Amino acid sequence: MSSLDELYRAVLLDHYTRPRNRGVVEGDGSAVDLRNPSCGDTIHLTLRLDEAGRIAEVRFLGQGCSISQASASIMTEAVKGKPAAEAVALAERFKAMLRGEAELAPEDGDLAALEGVRQFPVRVKCATLAWNALEKALATATGGRAEGAEG
Ligand code: ZN
Repeated sequence: MSSLDELYRAVLLDHYTRPRNRGVVEGDGSAVDLRNPSCGDTIHLTLRLDEAGRIAEVRFLGQGCSISQASASIMTEAVKGKPAAEAVALAERFKAMLRGEAELAPEDGDLAALEGVRQFPVRVKCATLAWNALEKALATATGGRAEGAEG
């Protein structure tokens, strides 16, 4: 195992054991519940946009494998403070990366820790669960203006 693998493993473990933004945003009308049937992972995602359309608050609850939960934690940190459209673009880039169709940018930070997942196609759905939930919640919160592709 390379030292980079070790580093990424440590990042994932850190997010799994100390998840960021865990909980519920009260009063959110765009709450999303998704499940990954192939692994049993679940996520309950809530968020709040500010007046400028930025993600002011985003929180998740969930259960499942370490990849699904670490990915949810990393996602909330990555999109908090971003305009909805930018968050959707990031979700699309992340999912394209897992399909082997795109590379992450240096500023994508901890997302890089999930790059190794693309070598395990059966786990890709674990990693994308939270991001699909994000896109769904944003589509509802923005009335469809920030809608992204499924998958
Ligand atoms: Zn899983």
